[in-house]
Amino acid sequence: MEKKDIDWGELTFSYQPCDYSYVCDYENGAWGEGGLTADHTVTLSECAGILHYCQECFEGLKAYTTEDGSIVCFRPDLNARRMADSAERLVMPPFPEDRFVDAVRQVVAANAAWVPPFGSGATLYVRPVMFATGEVIGVRPADRYQFRILVTPVGPYFKGGVKPITICVSEYDRAAPHGTGNIKAGLNYAMSLYPYEKAHERGFSENLYLDSATRTYVEETGGANVLFVDGEGRLVVPQSATDSILPSITRRSLVSVARDMLGMEVVERPVRFDEVDGFVECGLCGTAAVISPVGRIVAGDHEVVFNGGADEMGPVMTRLRDTLTGIQAGTVEAPEGWIVRIPVE
Ligand SMILES: *Cc1c(COP(=O)(O)O)cnc(C)c1O
Repeated sequence: MEKKDIDWGELTFSYQPCDYSYVCDYENGAWGEGGLTADHTVTLSECAGILHYCQECFEGLKAYTTEDGSIVCFRPDLNARRMADSAERLVMPPFPEDRFVDAVRQVVAANAAWVPPFGSGATLYVRPVMFATGEVIGVRPADRYQFRILVTPVGPYFKGGVKPITICVSEYDRAAPHGTGNIKAGLNYAMSLYPYEKAHERGFSENLYLDSATRTYVEETGGANVLFVDGEGRLVVPQSATDSILPSITRRSLVSVARDMLGMEVVERPVRFDEVDGFVECGLCGTAAVISPVGRIVAGDHEVVFNGGADEMGPVMTRLRDTLTGIQAGTVEAPEGWIVRIPVE
C-alpha cells in the first residue's frame, strides 16, 4: 500500500474527500447490507426528515499509525454505544454496535493510503453520521435513514506548540436540563454557532457554558469537556446533575489514565463556577486535540488565571496528554480493549 503524496505536516482540520466512504440505508424496518462507496455525495428528497425536523446524530474518532507502522483506532466501541444512545433519543433506529465497529474497520482499511504516517502529528479523522432520509411533513419520526462514515486526513490540532487559550463564560446556554446536551446531535451545534461567533468577536477561543437552570455549575464548552486540577493535585471532573454534559470518550479515558495508570486521585462531582478560582490547571478535552490547556477564563470583569499565567500547558495536563497520546501511538501500553488494530493488505 502506497501512501498518498500529501504534505502531512501542512494539513489543517478541514475536509478532503478520500477514496471511499461507508454507506448503509435503513428501510422497511431494517438496516441493509451496507458497504463502501466512492460516491461522496448524498441525494435527498426535499421532504427528508433531516431537512425539516433535524433527526441527525454523528460521531468523531480517529485512526492513527503507531510506532510499528500498524493502523489503529481508539475505543470505537464507545463511539458505537454513544451513537446508539444518540439515535435512540432522536427516535432513530440505532445502527448495530458490532456493525458500527466493523464499518469503521472497513472504511479505514479501504483508505489506508490516507492514514498519516507515525510522527507526522496528523491523523485520519473518522466521522460517522446518521440522518432521516424518509419524507415527513407532519412532525413525526421518519421511516427511512442513512448511516454513513466519511474519513478525512487532518493535521495536528496545535501547529507550532500548544499555547493556553482564553475562554469566556457564555451569556447563552448550550443545553437544557434533561434536554439533548448528553447526545452528539448536530442540533446542539446549530444554536452554538451564534455564541461562538460572538465569543470570537470578543477575542475568546471558546465559550464555557454553565448549567442553564441556575448558571452556577460548570458544564462544558461548545465541543469539549472541561477538566481541572486542584491545589492538592487531584483531577476534578465536572458532573452534571441534569444530565446535560456530553459523555466525552477522551474525558472518560483520561479519568482511567489518571486513576489507574498515574495513581492520581480523581474527583467527579458538580463544580460551582465560584470554586474555579481555587484550581491550578484547566484543560478542555476531546478527540480533536486530546487536551487543550486553558490559561484564562473570563466571566464579565472577573478573570481566573491557571498554571500561574504561564505560556505553556501545566505539568498535570501535560502528563495526562502525553500518556493518552502515547497509548494512541503505541508507545505506551494500552489498557485491555482500548486499541483496535485495522488489518491492511
Ligand atoms: C464530541 C464532543 C465532546 C468530546 O467527546 P470525545 O468523545 O472526547 O471526542 C465534548 N463535548 C461535546 C459537546 C461534543 O460534541
